Amino acid sequence: ATREETLGFQTEVKQLLNLMINSLYSNREIFLRELISNAADACDKLRYAALDNDALYEGDSELRIEIEHDSNAGTVTVRDNGIGMDRDDVINNLGTIAKSGTAEFLQQLSGEQQKDARLIGQFGVGFYSSFIVADEVTVRTRKAGTDAAKGVEWRSAGEGEFTIGELEREAHGTEIVLHLKDNAREFADDSRLQHLVRTYSDHIEVPVKMPKTETAKDDDGNDVEGSEVTTWETVNEATALWVRPKGEITDDEYKAFYKHVAHDFSDPLTWSHNKVEGKLEYTSLLYVPGRAPFDLYERDGARGVKLYVQRVFIMDDAEQFLPLYLRFIKGVLDTRDLSLNVSREILQQDPQVDKIKSALTKRSLDMLKKLAKDSKDSEAYQTFWNTFGSVLKEGPGEDPSNREKIAGLLRFSSTHTDSATQDQSLADYVERMKEGQQKIYYIVADGFNAAKNSPHLEIFRKKGIEVLLLSDRVDEWLMSHLTEFDGKSLTDVAKGELDLGEVEDEEEKKAQEETAKAKEELVKRVQEALGESVQEVKVTHRLTASPACVVLPEHEMGFQMRRIMEAAGQ
Ligand code: ADP
Ligand code: MG
Repeated sequence: ATREETLGFQTEVKQLLNLMINSLYSNREIFLRELISNAADACDKLRYAALDNDALYEGDSELRIEIEHDSNAGTVTVRDNGIGMDRDDVINNLGTIAKSGTAEFLQQLSGEQQKDARLIGQFGVGFYSSFIVADEVTVRTRKAGTDAAKGVEWRSAGEGEFTIGELEREAHGTEIVLHLKDNAREFADDSRLQHLVRTYSDHIEVPVKMPKTETAKDDDGNDVEGSEVTTWETVNEATALWVRPKGEITDDEYKAFYKHVAHDFSDPLTWSHNKVEGKLEYTSLLYVPGRAPFDLYERDGARGVKLYVQRVFIMDDAEQFLPLYLRFIKGVLDTRDLSLNVSREILQQDPQVDKIKSALTKRSLDMLKKLAKDSKDSEAYQTFWNTFGSVLKEGPGEDPSNREKIAGLLRFSSTHTDSATQDQSLADYVERMKEGQQKIYYIVADGFNAAKNSPHLEIFRKKGIEVLLLSDRVDEWLMSHLTEFDGKSLTDVAKGELDLGEVEDEEEKKAQEETAKAKEELVKRVQEALGESVQEVKVTHRLTASPACVVLPEHEMGFQMRRIMEAAGQ
């Protein structure tokens, strides 16, 4: 290359490189998956750009990925004839990390290998994973549609800086050469590479090719000198997974595809693959991950599905097709109902998008319902709930039309178990309701222990009436939108009049009235003493051990909500 220049990596890149090299050692073969995935993305991007401008193919429209190795030199090369990069692209893409929240993410890393490996895996390690196996990486690239003189060469040892220069390059697209570390030379091997391609990248729609050299033999079985012929053989399945019929796809293939779409090391909990024909025409493949992404609670965290229109890749993270409370769902949507020129702006207005969104929402909720049903004896649904439950709790507020469905998926702590594990459904509760009990009772507090030990529960415990114990930040918001389940109203035991319905017997009521009469004097004195700071003082039969408690009027905002509003300056 000419006119070379050496530049420093962004600080975050340096940090990430360091951590990655150390913590991903036992998963180091993922470098190949990442490079193939980038090459496939580059092919997708060229195909998309060429829809408007065929000339971008430069006469070579057979998109492909090639993998070569040289075991003597200890190199592995991954090459594509996709979109390629110009100088600015290279500097931006291979010198910085554009993802939002990177700095916070790096802070979360603990230095514990296993934990960090998981986090980094979720973060999406991408191109930089090359440096787990290579001590020098060379990238040669040229953006499709530019002059041959506009090629770029990028080199780095992954130690703080990279060198970039100009390069004459006939072919458009990108070639990445890894100079393997001594302890990673095992990857410069035909069968190892083939195996990795089949394991991780089988479903990539672009063919992944490897060279096969054949030598003619003479009658004695010896090689004929100079007779080598190299052919490029496709190693992967090379059809988009979601296009294939369900019955032909194995669980392992579904899982491998998930890892590709979600940038995750671990298996998904479940998935749902559907082809829909008729008024709407689309194929969707949706997954429930087993782990939360690092940016689940960030406003601009990545969410949504990978969008294809008639098999042409359009965009990652198309967030218009799923509601916010299902932002943990990953997957692919391929539809005929949108135009190939669709943009994020158009997606916001297209009425077809809303129809597909409500269909995918229903699919997702059904998938969760099935997961709950199927995992009666296994941990899968509980894992889901522990990981994403507090996100799903946003649902009844965000999506009234599916309130009942979502309510069926909720899990709570309750006085039935008195355990912090949220594993009781509303249906479980209803089944256990006392004769004569008409309401579902709950309490909201700052923490699980505060809820569990609340004096408001005394009377309920005494009478053996179950109360749901809520203490997530989102719970008050949830309950303000979830007022009924299965025809029974949900009632906060800390608010308004306590009505235990027919669970109370007449005698008790009478006794209570008598007590109230007898204590009128006391009530008056307490009322005077407290003055303006309370609305009303009453004799209560809520309590069995504590002398007094504070109760909110029925339609008053709860304590949690008050605090949230106060924090927001209201
Ligand atoms: P991600 O793929 O999640 O964006 P990566 O670290 O894998 O993150 O890649 C960073 C960026 O580098 C890509 O988004 C892309 O713009 C660019 N890039 C990487 N490999 C290629 C390639 N083979 N061809 C074109 N661009 C590439
Ligand atoms: Mg990538």
